[in-house]
Amino acid sequence: MRFARLIAVLLGSGFTLLAVAILLSCMPASASERDDGPSAYGYTDHDSRATTPRILDLYVDRAFDDHERQEILFAIKQWNYALNDFVRFRTSLLPDTVSPTMLAQIKRQGGWIVARVDSRHPIAQEGEGLHALAVTVSNSHSGYVYVISDRIGGRPLSGVVMHEFGHVLGAGHDGSGLMAPVWNAAGSRCIDHDAMAMVANAQHLPLSDLNWCVPPGQDRRSRPPMTSQR
Ligand SMILES: [Zn+2]
Repeated sequence: MRFARLIAVLLGSGFTLLAVAILLSCMPASASERDDGPSAYGYTDHDSRATTPRILDLYVDRAFDDHERQEILFAIKQWNYALNDFVRFRTSLLPDTVSPTMLAQIKRQGGWIVARVDSRHPIAQEGEGLHALAVTVSNSHSGYVYVISDRIGGRPLSGVVMHEFGHVLGAGHDGSGLMAPVWNAAGSRCIDHDAMAMVANAQHLPLSDLNWCVPPGQDRRSRPPMTSQR
């Protein structure tokens, strides 16, 4: 199968493949969606019984510009808050040139690469990638998050990668929130209960010790709404 061969070439042999993508919706992208973004939502503030966080390394492609890097960091900030010290994303920038040795090391250590590609990239031209904003390819403990940059349009990149990081943490597609299979502005703003429940299940974490966003007006016993780093 051509797709499988492609990924095998991309990731090296021995990977069992799971490819997931968030698809383009027919909804227009709107740059104004971010105006009230996550600040319109608050997160729960549960006590954590976690001791030492399990670290998940993310290596961010230098091809992302400063604004895009801030968006990625904003998504990571929300995940780290929601994960409440059970699991923690640790972020580094990839060097300009990545040697095969370094790729092998990242793979061996369970790291993830967040790569900026465009729709000419093979990942964007096959299978789910054909209509995707981003694609996560994993062998369950390491892999790639491909951001198909020319398809993002006015959507906040933070929401797109926040969805993909849900896949990195083992969540699948469900519902109409963050982990909906088709991008939607409302669902992409923050990490909702359903997304967190899938992650808790995949990571074997106690859901009641984790955090998630709750729409305004509902009791959440939360900290003040998080603010963007922008
Ligand atoms: Zn997805």
